[in-house]
Amino acid sequence: MTTSKSRNTKKTSDDILPSIPSWTDLMGFRMTLKRLTHLWITDKLPSVLLFEGRDGIGKRSIAAAAAAMPFCSHHEPCGICANCHAVLSTSHPEILWVETSDISLKLTDADRIHEHLSVHAGSFWTEQNPSNSFGSTPSKDGVASPQRAVRIVVIIDADKLNQQAANRLLVTLEEPPLSSHIFMTTSRPKAMLPTVLSRAIKWHLAPPHLEDTLTFLKTRLPSILSPETPTPTDTELKECILRAGLSPGKALDLCGHEGMVGEKIRRLLNPENMLHILEAAEELGKSGTTFGKWIEMVEVRLNERYKKAVSERKNGTKCPSGLHIGVINERRRMLSQVKRAAVNQKIALNMQLASESLGFSGISQ
Ligand SMILES: [Zn+2]
Repeated sequence: MTTSKSRNTKKTSDDILPSIPSWTDLMGFRMTLKRLTHLWITDKLPSVLLFEGRDGIGKRSIAAAAAAMPFCSHHEPCGICANCHAVLSTSHPEILWVETSDISLKLTDADRIHEHLSVHAGSFWTEQNPSNSFGSTPSKDGVASPQRAVRIVVIIDADKLNQQAANRLLVTLEEPPLSSHIFMTTSRPKAMLPTVLSRAIKWHLAPPHLEDTLTFLKTRLPSILSPETPTPTDTELKECILRAGLSPGKALDLCGHEGMVGEKIRRLLNPENMLHILEAAEELGKSGTTFGKWIEMVEVRLNERYKKAVSERKNGTKCPSGLHIGVINERRRMLSQVKRAAVNQKIALNMQLASESLGFSGISQ
């Protein structure tokens, strides 16, 4: 398990969490954030909230927004003040992040949650460290009131709590200490213990509208794709969103990956020499695409081009597809040699080794 640092828990090597993607980048959740803020301002924010929704929808960011509300200098939460930044970097001292890549959250995690919430919030800042960088907790009317104590725990993927930990947590969930909040997320509510579920107010996060996710992808993709990668069309992006089950996070991963792979394949279809093929193969290998898979994709495209070129020649058209049959054949030959060497002869996907083995170094098409 990893937890954010907290003043009453010792920081260990495990206590390093990645930053949370800002909720300000989330498209289609403006109303959700408005409702959360309204509940906080009117003192109606439930003590135990479970954000439930499909993978990649932005649950961590929404939970972070909820956790930031009591501390945000602008009471929104704004996402840009020092307090919001501390929340997003999982370093806010009043917020304990409980998140794991393991299959379960254990008893010790439940103990740490209880321990974190049991400490009276705010007292540390006002009595011992009045000039800390986060300042005092802003009150709802905008006047600083450091005595207003708030302690928060965010449990990501609460369905990973094992039975023992969940049972230990029940007491805390039943009667959370004064001015404390527990925000949980899950994409598998059915995997959670009914006793835990019954103690939380469920907040279903529906996928944003397709157009909102489209805007989100257009904003975020340029920072992921290389400048040479052709910009995907709206139709391609929409197909990607649908394949990602409308989840913005998943769609971003998918479009980013496909964009990069698409670019590599484009380069493979138009290589200047064998080394270009091997370079692209190596990069594709690093991006997680298996060698056999990409080479098949390239072969399919080359075969399509070949058929087109043959039919163009039959019809007497002068090469409108842009490639001569001879050039296509040469590229097919190069690819099959790489394939034979790297797949059949089990040569590692290493550019230098492969080019030396094949004696291709410096050979142009
Ligand atoms: Zn803020």
